[in-house]
Amino acid sequence: MKNLRWIQSAAACFLALILGAEQVSAAVTLGGEGTVYPEKEHAEVSLGEMSRELFDQEAFDQAVEELDELSGRKGQEDQVLEQYQVILEETDRLYTQYVLLTLDYYRDVENKEIAEKYEESEKLLMEAGNTAAETLSALLDSRYYGQLLTETMGEENAGAFMAYDGITMRESILTQREMDLIREYEEALVQDYDSPREENQVLGEIYLELVEVRTDLAETQGYDNYADYAYEQGYYRDYTVEDVEALRQQVKEHLVPLYEACLDCALENNVDAIYTGRQEDSGEMLERLIVPMEKIHPEVGTAYKYFLSQELYDIEPDEKKIDMGYTVELPFYGDAYIYDSGSGTYEDYFTMIHEFGHFTSVFYEDNHYLYSVVNMDVSEIHSQGLEVLFWPYFEEIVPGMGRTMQIYTVYEMLTNIVFCCIYDEIEQEIYRNPDMTLEELNRTVEEISSGYGEIPPLDRYEWVEMTHLYQQPFYVISYATSALAALELLEMAQENRDQALDAYMEISASGTGTAYCQVLENTGLRNIFQEGAVKETAEAMAGLLDLELPEPEISQTPAPEQEPQEKILESVLGGMSQWLSELTENRRQMLWDAL
Ligand SMILES: [Zn+2]
Repeated sequence: MKNLRWIQSAAACFLALILGAEQVSAAVTLGGEGTVYPEKEHAEVSLGEMSRELFDQEAFDQAVEELDELSGRKGQEDQVLEQYQVILEETDRLYTQYVLLTLDYYRDVENKEIAEKYEESEKLLMEAGNTAAETLSALLDSRYYGQLLTETMGEENAGAFMAYDGITMRESILTQREMDLIREYEEALVQDYDSPREENQVLGEIYLELVEVRTDLAETQGYDNYADYAYEQGYYRDYTVEDVEALRQQVKEHLVPLYEACLDCALENNVDAIYTGRQEDSGEMLERLIVPMEKIHPEVGTAYKYFLSQELYDIEPDEKKIDMGYTVELPFYGDAYIYDSGSGTYEDYFTMIHEFGHFTSVFYEDNHYLYSVVNMDVSEIHSQGLEVLFWPYFEEIVPGMGRTMQIYTVYEMLTNIVFCCIYDEIEQEIYRNPDMTLEELNRTVEEISSGYGEIPPLDRYEWVEMTHLYQQPFYVISYATSALAALELLEMAQENRDQALDAYMEISASGTGTAYCQVLENTGLRNIFQEGAVKETAEAMAGLLDLELPEPEISQTPAPEQEPQEKILESVLGGMSQWLSELTENRRQMLWDAL
Protein backbone atom coordinates (compact mmCIF):
# COMPACT_ATOMS: atom_id res chain seq x y z
CA MET A 1 0.00 0.00 0.00
CA LYS A 2 2.99 2.30 0.44
CA ASN A 3 3.53 2.41 -3.30
CA LEU A 4 -0.01 3.48 -3.84
CA ARG A 5 0.29 6.50 -1.65
CA TRP A 6 2.81 8.40 -3.64
CA ILE A 7 1.26 7.44 -6.93
CA GLN A 8 -2.01 8.70 -5.57
CA SER A 9 -0.68 12.18 -4.91
CA ALA A 10 1.14 12.25 -8.24
CA ALA A 11 -2.13 11.33 -9.88
CA ALA A 12 -3.98 14.05 -8.06
CA CYS A 13 -1.82 16.66 -9.80
CA PHE A 14 -2.21 14.92 -13.12
CA LEU A 15 -5.96 14.74 -12.77
CA ALA A 16 -6.19 18.36 -11.79
CA LEU A 17 -4.78 19.20 -15.20
CA ILE A 18 -7.08 17.07 -17.26
CA LEU A 19 -10.29 17.32 -15.29
CA GLY A 20 -10.22 20.97 -14.38
CA ALA A 21 -13.16 22.46 -12.56
CA GLU A 22 -14.63 19.41 -10.85
CA GLN A 23 -11.38 18.63 -9.09
CA VAL A 24 -11.53 19.16 -5.35
CA SER A 25 -8.34 20.24 -3.68
CA ALA A 26 -8.00 18.41 -0.40
CA ALA A 27 -8.24 20.85 2.44
CA VAL A 28 -7.22 18.85 5.45
CA THR A 29 -4.97 15.89 6.15
CA LEU A 30 -5.62 13.77 9.23
CA GLY A 31 -4.09 10.63 10.72
CA GLY A 32 -0.57 9.53 9.90
CA GLU A 33 2.56 9.26 12.03
CA GLY A 34 2.04 9.14 15.78
CA THR A 35 -1.68 8.47 15.40
CA VAL A 36 -3.83 5.35 15.35
CA TYR A 37 -5.01 5.79 11.77
CA PRO A 38 -3.21 6.11 8.44
CA GLU A 39 -2.78 9.52 6.89
CA LYS A 40 -5.62 10.59 4.65
CA GLU A 41 -6.88 13.74 2.95
CA HIS A 42 -10.42 15.01 3.41
CA ALA A 43 -12.04 17.45 1.02
CA GLU A 44 -13.86 19.67 3.57
CA VAL A 45 -16.92 19.85 1.35
CA SER A 46 -20.28 19.76 3.09
CA LEU A 47 -22.83 17.11 2.15
CA GLY A 48 -25.11 19.78 0.68
CA GLU A 49 -22.40 21.00 -1.69
CA MET A 50 -21.30 17.65 -3.06
CA SER A 51 -21.72 17.12 -6.78
CA ARG A 52 -23.80 14.42 -8.47
CA GLU A 53 -21.85 14.88 -11.70
CA LEU A 54 -18.37 13.69 -10.87
CA PHE A 55 -17.82 10.87 -13.31
CA ASP A 56 -16.16 11.64 -16.65
CA GLN A 57 -17.14 8.82 -18.98
CA GLU A 58 -14.84 10.03 -21.72
CA ALA A 59 -11.77 10.11 -19.48
CA PHE A 60 -12.61 6.64 -18.18
CA ASP A 61 -13.14 5.14 -21.66
CA GLN A 62 -9.95 6.75 -22.91
CA ALA A 63 -7.92 5.33 -20.03
CA VAL A 64 -9.33 1.86 -20.67
CA GLU A 65 -8.46 2.14 -24.35
CA GLU A 66 -4.96 3.44 -23.69
CA LEU A 67 -4.18 0.73 -21.16
CA ASP A 68 -5.29 -1.85 -23.65
CA GLU A 69 -2.96 -0.36 -26.23
CA LEU A 70 -0.03 0.26 -23.85
CA SER A 71 -0.07 -3.26 -22.41
CA GLY A 72 1.52 -4.66 -25.58
CA ARG A 73 4.35 -2.10 -25.72
CA LYS A 74 7.53 -2.19 -23.68
CA GLY A 75 8.89 0.74 -21.62
CA GLN A 76 5.59 2.55 -20.99
CA GLU A 77 5.68 2.33 -17.17
CA ASP A 78 4.86 5.97 -16.46
CA GLN A 79 1.98 6.10 -18.93
CA VAL A 80 0.57 2.82 -17.64
CA LEU A 81 0.61 4.07 -14.04
CA GLU A 82 -0.98 7.36 -15.06
CA GLN A 83 -3.85 5.65 -16.84
CA TYR A 84 -4.22 3.16 -14.02
CA GLN A 85 -4.68 6.11 -11.67
CA VAL A 86 -7.39 7.51 -13.94
CA ILE A 87 -9.26 4.21 -13.62
CA LEU A 88 -9.02 4.33 -9.81
CA GLU A 89 -10.02 7.96 -9.65
CA GLU A 90 -12.92 7.69 -12.06
CA THR A 91 -14.40 4.66 -10.32
CA ASP A 92 -14.09 6.57 -7.02
CA ARG A 93 -15.95 9.45 -8.62
CA LEU A 94 -18.63 7.21 -10.04
CA TYR A 95 -19.19 5.38 -6.76
CA THR A 96 -19.32 8.67 -4.85
CA GLN A 97 -21.86 10.02 -7.32
CA TYR A 98 -23.88 6.83 -7.00
CA VAL A 99 -24.04 6.93 -3.18
CA LEU A 100 -25.07 10.60 -3.29
CA LEU A 101 -27.88 9.69 -5.68
CA THR A 102 -28.79 6.87 -3.28
CA LEU A 103 -29.25 9.54 -0.64
CA ASP A 104 -31.55 11.53 -2.94
CA TYR A 105 -33.51 8.38 -3.68
CA TYR A 106 -33.95 7.30 -0.05
CA ARG A 107 -35.07 10.80 0.85
CA ASP A 108 -38.04 10.40 -1.45
CA VAL A 109 -38.46 6.89 -2.86
CA GLU A 110 -41.63 7.77 -4.73
CA ASN A 111 -40.07 10.55 -6.80
CA LYS A 112 -39.85 9.00 -10.26
CA GLU A 113 -37.32 11.44 -11.69
CA ILE A 114 -34.84 10.81 -8.87
CA ALA A 115 -35.48 7.06 -8.99
CA GLU A 116 -34.56 7.05 -12.67
CA LYS A 117 -31.29 8.89 -12.10
CA TYR A 118 -30.45 6.54 -9.25
CA GLU A 119 -31.24 3.52 -11.38
CA GLU A 120 -29.08 4.86 -14.21
CA SER A 121 -26.11 5.45 -11.93
CA GLU A 122 -26.47 1.94 -10.45
CA LYS A 123 -26.30 0.47 -13.94
CA LEU A 124 -23.39 2.66 -14.91
CA LEU A 125 -21.51 1.61 -11.78
CA MET A 126 -22.03 -2.05 -12.57
CA GLU A 127 -20.81 -1.60 -16.14
CA ALA A 128 -17.81 0.59 -15.33
CA GLY A 129 -16.88 -1.65 -12.38
CA ASN A 130 -16.85 -4.63 -14.68
CA THR A 131 -14.84 -2.82 -17.38
CA ALA A 132 -12.32 -1.57 -14.80
CA ALA A 133 -11.89 -5.02 -13.30
CA GLU A 134 -11.47 -6.62 -16.73
CA THR A 135 -8.92 -3.98 -17.73
CA LEU A 136 -6.86 -4.42 -14.56
CA SER A 137 -7.11 -8.19 -14.82
CA ALA A 138 -5.75 -8.10 -18.39
CA LEU A 139 -2.97 -5.70 -17.41
CA LEU A 140 -1.93 -7.93 -14.50
CA ASP A 141 -1.77 -10.75 -16.97
CA SER A 142 0.32 -8.78 -19.44
CA ARG A 143 3.95 -9.55 -20.19
CA TYR A 144 5.44 -6.14 -19.46
CA TYR A 145 3.31 -4.66 -16.67
CA GLY A 146 1.98 -7.54 -14.57
CA GLN A 147 4.77 -7.26 -12.03
CA LEU A 148 4.66 -3.45 -11.87
CA LEU A 149 0.93 -3.43 -11.26
CA THR A 150 1.10 -6.19 -8.64
CA GLU A 151 3.68 -4.17 -6.71
CA THR A 152 1.59 -1.05 -7.06
CA MET A 153 -1.75 -2.43 -5.90
CA GLY A 154 -0.41 -5.07 -3.51
CA GLU A 155 -0.55 -8.83 -3.87
CA GLU A 156 -3.93 -9.31 -2.28
CA ASN A 157 -5.67 -6.85 -4.60
CA ALA A 158 -3.76 -8.24 -7.56
CA GLY A 159 -4.88 -11.77 -6.67
CA ALA A 160 -8.51 -10.66 -6.55
CA PHE A 161 -8.34 -9.00 -9.96
CA MET A 162 -6.41 -11.89 -11.50
CA ALA A 163 -9.21 -14.23 -10.44
CA TYR A 164 -11.78 -11.96 -12.06
CA ASP A 165 -13.06 -13.42 -15.28
CA GLY A 166 -15.63 -10.84 -16.25
CA ILE A 167 -19.41 -10.90 -16.22
CA THR A 168 -21.16 -13.07 -18.77
CA MET A 169 -24.34 -11.88 -20.44
CA ARG A 170 -26.34 -14.24 -18.24
CA GLU A 171 -24.74 -12.93 -15.03
CA SER A 172 -25.34 -9.38 -16.16
CA ILE A 173 -29.04 -10.07 -16.85
CA LEU A 174 -29.46 -11.84 -13.49
CA THR A 175 -27.67 -9.08 -11.57
CA GLN A 176 -29.79 -6.45 -13.29
CA ARG A 177 -32.93 -8.40 -12.44
CA GLU A 178 -31.82 -8.66 -8.81
CA MET A 179 -31.30 -4.89 -8.60
CA ASP A 180 -34.69 -4.24 -10.23
CA LEU A 181 -36.42 -6.56 -7.75
CA ILE A 182 -34.77 -4.81 -4.80
CA ARG A 183 -36.01 -1.46 -6.08
CA GLU A 184 -39.46 -2.92 -6.68
CA TYR A 185 -39.41 -4.11 -3.06
CA GLU A 186 -38.31 -0.72 -1.71
CA GLU A 187 -41.13 0.98 -3.56
CA ALA A 188 -43.69 -1.63 -2.45
CA LEU A 189 -42.50 -1.38 1.16
CA VAL A 190 -43.58 2.25 1.53
CA GLN A 191 -47.14 1.55 0.28
CA ASP A 192 -50.11 1.13 2.63
CA TYR A 193 -51.73 -2.29 2.95
CA ASP A 194 -55.06 -3.35 4.43
CA SER A 195 -53.52 -6.16 6.45
CA PRO A 196 -50.15 -7.77 7.23
CA ARG A 197 -51.32 -10.71 5.15
CA GLU A 198 -51.83 -8.54 2.09
CA GLU A 199 -48.42 -6.93 2.57
CA ASN A 200 -46.89 -10.38 2.97
CA GLN A 201 -48.41 -11.50 -0.32
CA VAL A 202 -47.08 -8.56 -2.30
CA LEU A 203 -43.61 -8.41 -0.75
CA GLY A 204 -43.35 -12.18 -0.32
CA GLU A 205 -43.81 -12.78 -4.04
CA ILE A 206 -40.94 -10.38 -4.76
CA TYR A 207 -38.81 -12.32 -2.28
CA LEU A 208 -39.55 -15.65 -3.95
CA GLU A 209 -38.39 -14.20 -7.24
CA LEU A 210 -35.24 -12.86 -5.62
CA VAL A 211 -34.49 -16.32 -4.22
CA GLU A 212 -34.88 -17.77 -7.69
CA VAL A 213 -32.65 -15.17 -9.34
CA ARG A 214 -29.98 -15.56 -6.64
CA THR A 215 -30.06 -19.34 -6.94
CA ASP A 216 -29.43 -18.96 -10.68
CA LEU A 217 -26.64 -16.49 -9.96
CA ALA A 218 -24.97 -18.94 -7.57
CA GLU A 219 -25.18 -21.63 -10.23
CA THR A 220 -23.33 -19.42 -12.72
CA GLN A 221 -20.51 -19.35 -10.14
CA GLY A 222 -20.48 -23.13 -9.80
CA TYR A 223 -22.41 -23.35 -6.51
CA ASP A 224 -25.32 -25.66 -5.72
CA ASN A 225 -27.09 -23.02 -3.69
CA TYR A 226 -26.92 -19.32 -2.92
CA ALA A 227 -26.29 -19.88 0.81
CA ASP A 228 -22.85 -21.39 0.29
CA TYR A 229 -22.04 -18.85 -2.39
CA ALA A 230 -22.94 -15.85 -0.22
CA TYR A 231 -21.03 -17.17 2.79
CA GLU A 232 -17.91 -17.97 0.80
CA GLN A 233 -17.85 -15.11 -1.68
CA GLY A 234 -20.05 -12.34 -0.39
CA TYR A 235 -18.65 -10.97 2.83
CA TYR A 236 -14.93 -11.69 3.11
CA ARG A 237 -15.56 -14.24 5.88
CA ASP A 238 -13.03 -16.55 7.44
CA TYR A 239 -15.61 -18.81 9.08
CA THR A 240 -17.97 -21.38 7.60
CA VAL A 241 -21.65 -22.27 7.57
CA GLU A 242 -20.76 -25.18 9.91
CA ASP A 243 -19.09 -22.77 12.36
CA VAL A 244 -22.31 -20.78 12.48
CA GLU A 245 -24.43 -23.90 12.99
CA ALA A 246 -22.35 -24.71 16.07
CA LEU A 247 -22.54 -21.08 17.19
CA ARG A 248 -26.33 -21.21 17.00
CA GLN A 249 -26.34 -24.13 19.43
CA GLN A 250 -24.19 -22.15 21.87
CA VAL A 251 -26.53 -19.19 21.49
CA LYS A 252 -29.64 -21.32 22.10
CA GLU A 253 -28.07 -22.81 25.18
CA HIS A 254 -26.46 -19.79 26.82
CA LEU A 255 -27.64 -16.54 25.28
CA VAL A 256 -31.35 -17.16 24.94
CA PRO A 257 -31.82 -17.55 28.74
CA LEU A 258 -29.64 -14.48 29.27
CA TYR A 259 -31.69 -12.55 26.71
CA GLU A 260 -34.90 -13.43 28.56
CA ALA A 261 -33.45 -12.42 31.92
CA CYS A 262 -32.05 -9.22 30.41
CA LEU A 263 -35.39 -8.32 28.88
CA ASP A 264 -37.05 -8.54 32.28
CA CYS A 265 -34.29 -6.46 33.77
CA ALA A 266 -34.61 -3.90 30.95
CA LEU A 267 -38.36 -3.62 31.52
CA GLU A 268 -37.86 -3.18 35.28
CA ASN A 269 -35.40 -0.41 34.46
CA ASN A 270 -37.80 1.56 32.34
CA VAL A 271 -36.39 0.60 28.95
CA ASP A 272 -39.63 1.75 27.34
CA ALA A 273 -38.43 5.30 27.94
CA ILE A 274 -35.83 4.78 25.19
CA TYR A 275 -38.64 4.66 22.65
CA THR A 276 -40.39 7.79 23.85
CA GLY A 277 -40.01 11.26 22.36
CA ARG A 278 -37.14 13.35 23.70
CA GLN A 279 -37.02 17.06 24.34
CA GLU A 280 -33.77 17.97 22.67
CA ASP A 281 -33.72 18.36 18.90
CA SER A 282 -31.18 16.55 16.73
CA GLY A 283 -28.77 19.51 16.80
CA GLU A 284 -28.65 19.36 20.60
CA MET A 285 -28.34 15.58 20.48
CA LEU A 286 -25.30 15.84 18.19
CA GLU A 287 -23.73 18.47 20.50
CA ARG A 288 -24.09 16.26 23.55
CA LEU A 289 -22.00 13.56 21.90
CA ILE A 290 -18.92 15.75 21.30
CA VAL A 291 -17.26 15.30 24.71
CA PRO A 292 -17.88 11.53 24.99
CA MET A 293 -16.52 11.00 21.46
CA GLU A 294 -13.35 12.83 22.51
CA LYS A 295 -13.14 10.69 25.64
CA ILE A 296 -13.24 7.49 23.56
CA HIS A 297 -10.16 8.74 21.73
CA PRO A 298 -8.96 12.19 20.56
CA GLU A 299 -8.94 11.02 16.94
CA VAL A 300 -12.55 9.85 17.20
CA GLY A 301 -13.28 13.32 18.59
CA THR A 302 -11.48 14.96 15.65
CA ALA A 303 -13.47 12.90 13.15
CA TYR A 304 -16.68 13.78 14.99
CA LYS A 305 -16.01 17.53 14.93
CA TYR A 306 -15.18 17.33 11.23
CA PHE A 307 -18.41 15.37 10.66
CA LEU A 308 -20.38 18.11 12.43
CA SER A 309 -18.62 21.02 10.75
CA GLN A 310 -19.22 19.60 7.24
CA GLU A 311 -22.75 18.44 8.16
CA LEU A 312 -22.13 14.97 6.75
CA TYR A 313 -25.50 13.67 7.89
CA ASP A 314 -29.17 13.51 6.99
CA ILE A 315 -30.97 12.54 10.16
CA GLU A 316 -34.09 14.71 10.44
CA PRO A 317 -37.33 12.72 10.54
CA ASP A 318 -39.39 13.17 7.39
CA GLU A 319 -42.30 11.01 6.31
CA LYS A 320 -41.00 10.83 2.75
CA LYS A 321 -37.75 9.20 3.87
CA ILE A 322 -37.35 5.46 3.70
CA ASP A 323 -37.08 3.89 7.14
CA MET A 324 -33.47 2.93 7.43
CA GLY A 325 -30.10 4.07 8.58
CA TYR A 326 -26.66 3.56 7.16
CA THR A 327 -23.20 5.00 6.78
CA VAL A 328 -21.53 5.08 3.42
CA GLU A 329 -18.14 6.19 2.26
CA LEU A 330 -17.54 8.94 -0.28
CA PRO A 331 -14.11 7.96 -1.62
CA PHE A 332 -13.79 10.92 -3.97
CA TYR A 333 -14.13 13.39 -1.08
CA GLY A 334 -12.24 11.22 1.41
CA ASP A 335 -15.33 11.33 3.62
CA ALA A 336 -18.56 9.51 4.41
CA TYR A 337 -22.13 10.43 5.33
CA ILE A 338 -24.73 9.10 7.74
CA TYR A 339 -28.37 8.68 6.75
CA ASP A 340 -31.06 7.97 9.30
CA SER A 341 -34.82 8.25 9.04
CA GLY A 342 -34.81 9.38 12.67
CA SER A 343 -37.48 8.71 15.27
CA GLY A 344 -37.23 11.72 17.58
CA THR A 345 -36.77 9.34 20.52
CA TYR A 346 -33.77 8.48 22.69
CA GLU A 347 -33.11 5.58 20.38
CA ASP A 348 -31.62 8.07 17.93
CA TYR A 349 -28.65 8.42 20.30
CA PHE A 350 -27.86 4.75 19.84
CA THR A 351 -28.29 4.98 16.09
CA MET A 352 -25.97 7.97 15.92
CA ILE A 353 -23.29 6.37 18.12
CA HIS A 354 -23.59 3.13 16.15
CA GLU A 355 -23.32 4.83 12.77
CA PHE A 356 -20.50 7.02 13.96
CA GLY A 357 -18.52 3.88 14.77
CA HIS A 358 -18.83 3.03 11.08
CA PHE A 359 -18.12 6.61 10.07
CA THR A 360 -14.83 6.90 11.98
CA SER A 361 -13.45 3.75 10.48
CA VAL A 362 -14.27 4.58 6.85
CA PHE A 363 -13.40 8.25 7.33
CA TYR A 364 -9.83 7.29 8.15
CA GLU A 365 -9.52 4.27 5.89
CA ASP A 366 -7.54 5.25 2.83
CA ASN A 367 -8.90 2.98 0.16
CA HIS A 368 -10.13 3.20 -3.37
CA TYR A 369 -13.58 1.98 -4.25
CA LEU A 370 -12.16 -0.76 -6.45
CA TYR A 371 -10.23 -2.13 -3.49
CA SER A 372 -12.94 -1.87 -0.86
CA VAL A 373 -13.99 -5.11 0.78
CA VAL A 374 -17.45 -5.99 2.08
CA ASN A 375 -16.62 -7.19 5.58
CA MET A 376 -19.67 -6.70 7.76
CA ASP A 377 -18.44 -8.89 10.62
CA VAL A 378 -15.69 -6.39 11.40
CA SER A 379 -17.63 -3.27 10.32
CA GLU A 380 -20.32 -4.06 12.86
CA ILE A 381 -17.72 -4.26 15.63
CA HIS A 382 -16.76 -0.69 14.70
CA SER A 383 -20.36 0.33 15.33
CA GLN A 384 -21.57 -1.95 18.12
CA GLY A 385 -18.21 -1.75 19.90
CA LEU A 386 -18.59 2.02 20.10
CA GLU A 387 -22.11 1.68 21.48
CA VAL A 388 -21.03 -0.53 24.39
CA LEU A 389 -17.99 1.64 25.14
CA PHE A 390 -20.35 4.58 25.71
CA TRP A 391 -21.51 2.68 28.84
CA PRO A 392 -19.96 5.15 31.36
CA TYR A 393 -21.06 8.28 29.45
CA PHE A 394 -24.81 7.74 29.11
CA GLU A 395 -25.67 9.50 32.36
CA GLU A 396 -23.81 12.67 31.34
CA ILE A 397 -25.40 12.58 27.87
CA VAL A 398 -28.98 12.19 29.11
CA PRO A 399 -29.13 12.88 32.88
CA GLY A 400 -31.49 10.50 34.66
CA MET A 401 -31.39 7.93 31.84
CA GLY A 402 -27.89 6.54 32.35
CA ARG A 403 -28.77 3.19 33.91
CA THR A 404 -31.60 2.55 31.47
CA MET A 405 -29.32 3.30 28.53
CA GLN A 406 -26.61 1.01 29.89
CA ILE A 407 -29.02 -1.90 30.20
CA TYR A 408 -30.44 -1.10 26.81
CA THR A 409 -27.03 -1.47 25.14
CA VAL A 410 -26.65 -5.02 26.46
CA TYR A 411 -30.26 -5.85 25.65
CA GLU A 412 -29.75 -4.53 22.13
CA MET A 413 -26.61 -6.62 21.58
CA LEU A 414 -28.33 -9.75 22.88
CA THR A 415 -31.31 -9.05 20.66
CA ASN A 416 -29.03 -8.73 17.66
CA ILE A 417 -27.28 -11.99 18.47
CA VAL A 418 -30.38 -14.09 19.13
CA PHE A 419 -32.59 -12.76 16.35
CA CYS A 420 -29.87 -12.62 13.76
CA CYS A 421 -29.13 -16.28 14.47
CA ILE A 422 -32.83 -16.95 13.90
CA TYR A 423 -32.86 -15.00 10.64
CA ASP A 424 -29.68 -16.66 9.43
CA GLU A 425 -31.17 -20.07 10.10
CA ILE A 426 -34.27 -19.04 8.16
CA GLU A 427 -32.19 -17.80 5.22
CA GLN A 428 -30.19 -21.03 5.20
CA GLU A 429 -33.37 -23.07 5.04
CA ILE A 430 -34.93 -21.00 2.27
CA TYR A 431 -31.92 -20.76 -0.03
CA ARG A 432 -31.24 -24.48 0.36
CA ASN A 433 -34.86 -25.17 -0.62
CA PRO A 434 -35.45 -22.45 -3.21
CA ASP A 435 -38.65 -23.99 -4.58
CA MET A 436 -40.70 -23.20 -1.49
CA THR A 437 -44.08 -21.57 -1.96
CA LEU A 438 -44.88 -18.43 0.00
CA GLU A 439 -47.09 -20.44 2.32
CA GLU A 440 -44.25 -22.86 3.06
CA LEU A 441 -41.87 -19.99 3.55
CA ASN A 442 -44.16 -18.26 6.06
CA ARG A 443 -44.46 -21.55 7.95
CA THR A 444 -40.67 -21.98 7.92
CA VAL A 445 -40.27 -18.56 9.53
CA GLU A 446 -42.62 -19.59 12.32
CA GLU A 447 -41.15 -23.03 12.83
CA ILE A 448 -37.51 -22.04 12.96
CA SER A 449 -38.11 -19.09 15.23
CA SER A 450 -40.03 -21.26 17.70
CA GLY A 451 -36.87 -23.25 18.37
CA TYR A 452 -35.27 -20.57 20.53
CA GLY A 453 -36.25 -21.20 24.13
CA GLU A 454 -39.21 -19.27 25.42
CA ILE A 455 -39.02 -16.60 22.77
CA PRO A 456 -42.32 -16.51 20.92
CA PRO A 457 -42.10 -17.29 17.20
CA LEU A 458 -41.79 -14.52 14.66
CA ASP A 459 -44.97 -13.40 12.98
CA ARG A 460 -45.49 -15.47 9.84
CA TYR A 461 -46.37 -12.38 7.79
CA GLU A 462 -44.22 -9.57 9.12
CA TRP A 463 -40.81 -10.92 8.18
CA VAL A 464 -41.18 -9.21 4.77
CA GLU A 465 -40.46 -5.88 6.47
CA MET A 466 -36.95 -7.03 7.32
CA THR A 467 -35.12 -5.19 4.55
CA HIS A 468 -31.80 -7.01 4.99
CA LEU A 469 -33.38 -10.20 3.70
CA TYR A 470 -34.02 -8.46 0.41
CA GLN A 471 -31.15 -6.02 0.09
CA GLN A 472 -28.28 -7.97 1.61
CA PRO A 473 -28.91 -11.70 1.98
CA PHE A 474 -26.83 -13.47 4.66
CA TYR A 475 -25.66 -10.16 6.10
CA VAL A 476 -27.60 -10.53 9.37
CA ILE A 477 -25.31 -13.14 10.90
CA SER A 478 -22.62 -10.45 10.91
CA TYR A 479 -24.61 -8.57 13.55
CA ALA A 480 -24.44 -11.62 15.78
CA THR A 481 -20.73 -12.31 15.35
CA SER A 482 -19.82 -8.65 15.81
CA ALA A 483 -22.16 -8.14 18.78
CA LEU A 484 -20.44 -11.02 20.56
CA ALA A 485 -17.10 -9.27 20.05
CA ALA A 486 -18.64 -5.99 21.22
CA LEU A 487 -19.90 -7.60 24.44
CA GLU A 488 -16.43 -8.92 25.11
CA LEU A 489 -15.10 -5.37 24.77
CA LEU A 490 -17.67 -4.31 27.37
CA GLU A 491 -16.57 -7.15 29.61
CA MET A 492 -12.92 -6.17 29.15
CA ALA A 493 -13.73 -2.53 29.91
CA GLN A 494 -15.02 -3.47 33.38
CA GLU A 495 -11.61 -4.87 34.25
CA ASN A 496 -9.41 -2.49 32.35
CA ARG A 497 -11.03 0.29 30.37
CA ASP A 498 -7.84 1.49 28.69
CA GLN A 499 -7.15 -1.98 27.39
CA ALA A 500 -10.67 -2.21 25.97
CA LEU A 501 -10.37 1.22 24.33
CA ASP A 502 -7.02 0.27 22.82
CA ALA A 503 -8.48 -2.96 21.45
CA TYR A 504 -11.43 -1.06 20.01
CA MET A 505 -9.19 1.53 18.35
CA GLU A 506 -7.06 -1.21 16.86
CA ILE A 507 -10.16 -2.79 15.35
CA SER A 508 -11.43 0.57 14.10
CA ALA A 509 -8.08 1.36 12.46
CA SER A 510 -7.88 -2.07 10.86
CA GLY A 511 -10.74 -0.99 8.60
CA THR A 512 -12.25 -3.85 6.67
CA GLY A 513 -9.14 -5.34 5.11
CA THR A 514 -8.69 -8.04 7.77
CA ALA A 515 -11.14 -10.90 8.15
CA TYR A 516 -13.18 -11.37 11.33
CA CYS A 517 -11.49 -14.29 13.14
CA GLN A 518 -8.11 -12.80 12.33
CA VAL A 519 -9.17 -9.48 13.88
CA LEU A 520 -10.29 -11.28 17.06
CA GLU A 521 -6.96 -13.04 17.25
CA ASN A 522 -4.96 -9.87 16.58
CA THR A 523 -6.72 -8.00 19.39
CA GLY A 524 -6.67 -10.85 21.89
CA LEU A 525 -10.43 -11.43 21.85
CA ARG A 526 -11.97 -14.90 22.21
CA ASN A 527 -12.68 -17.00 19.15
CA ILE A 528 -16.48 -16.99 19.43
CA PHE A 529 -16.77 -20.24 17.48
CA GLN A 530 -14.87 -22.21 20.06
CA GLU A 531 -16.91 -24.31 22.47
CA GLY A 532 -17.45 -22.40 25.70
CA ALA A 533 -16.81 -18.92 24.30
CA VAL A 534 -20.46 -17.86 24.26
CA LYS A 535 -20.96 -19.26 27.76
CA GLU A 536 -18.12 -17.07 29.05
CA THR A 537 -19.68 -13.98 27.49
CA ALA A 538 -23.10 -14.90 28.90
CA GLU A 539 -21.70 -15.31 32.39
CA ALA A 540 -19.82 -12.04 32.21
CA MET A 541 -22.95 -10.17 31.11
CA ALA A 542 -25.07 -11.85 33.79
CA GLY A 543 -22.48 -10.71 36.34
CA LEU A 544 -22.41 -7.17 34.96
CA LEU A 545 -26.20 -6.78 35.13
CA ASP A 546 -26.55 -8.91 38.26
CA LEU A 547 -28.85 -11.37 36.53
CA GLU A 548 -29.56 -14.89 37.63
CA LEU A 549 -29.35 -17.46 34.89
CA PRO A 550 -31.31 -20.70 34.98
CA GLU A 551 -29.46 -23.99 34.50
CA PRO A 552 -28.84 -24.23 30.77
CA GLU A 553 -30.97 -26.62 28.77
CA ILE A 554 -31.61 -26.70 25.05
CA SER A 555 -35.27 -26.33 24.35
CA GLN A 556 -36.32 -26.87 20.74
CA THR A 557 -39.99 -26.25 21.29
CA PRO A 558 -41.75 -23.68 23.45
CA ALA A 559 -42.45 -24.97 26.94
CA PRO A 560 -46.09 -25.59 27.78
CA GLU A 561 -47.73 -22.50 29.16
CA GLN A 562 -47.83 -22.34 32.91
CA GLU A 563 -49.02 -19.75 35.33
CA PRO A 564 -45.57 -18.35 36.28
CA GLN A 565 -44.49 -18.21 32.62
CA GLU A 566 -47.21 -15.85 31.59
CA LYS A 567 -45.60 -12.69 32.79
CA ILE A 568 -42.36 -13.55 31.03
CA LEU A 569 -44.09 -14.39 27.78
CA GLU A 570 -46.00 -11.17 27.87
CA SER A 571 -42.94 -9.07 28.46
CA VAL A 572 -41.00 -10.93 25.80
CA LEU A 573 -43.80 -10.19 23.38
CA GLY A 574 -43.70 -6.53 24.34
CA GLY A 575 -39.99 -6.43 23.68
CA MET A 576 -40.38 -8.40 20.50
CA SER A 577 -42.73 -6.03 18.78
CA GLN A 578 -40.46 -3.18 19.77
CA TRP A 579 -37.49 -5.06 18.50
CA LEU A 580 -39.19 -5.91 15.27
CA SER A 581 -40.18 -2.35 14.60
CA GLU A 582 -36.63 -1.29 15.35
CA LEU A 583 -35.02 -3.81 13.10
CA THR A 584 -37.48 -3.45 10.28
CA GLU A 585 -36.81 0.25 10.38
CA ASN A 586 -33.43 -1.04 9.53
CA ARG A 587 -31.36 1.65 11.05
CA ARG A 588 -28.49 -0.71 11.59
CA GLN A 589 -27.52 -1.02 8.08
CA MET A 590 -24.45 -0.08 6.16
CA LEU A 591 -24.88 0.27 2.50
CA TRP A 592 -21.63 -0.24 0.80
CA ASP A 593 -21.60 -1.82 -2.44
CA ALA A 594 -23.89 -2.62 -5.29
CA LEU A 595 -21.46 -4.94 -7.02
ZN1 LIG B 1 -24.05 -1.07 11.47
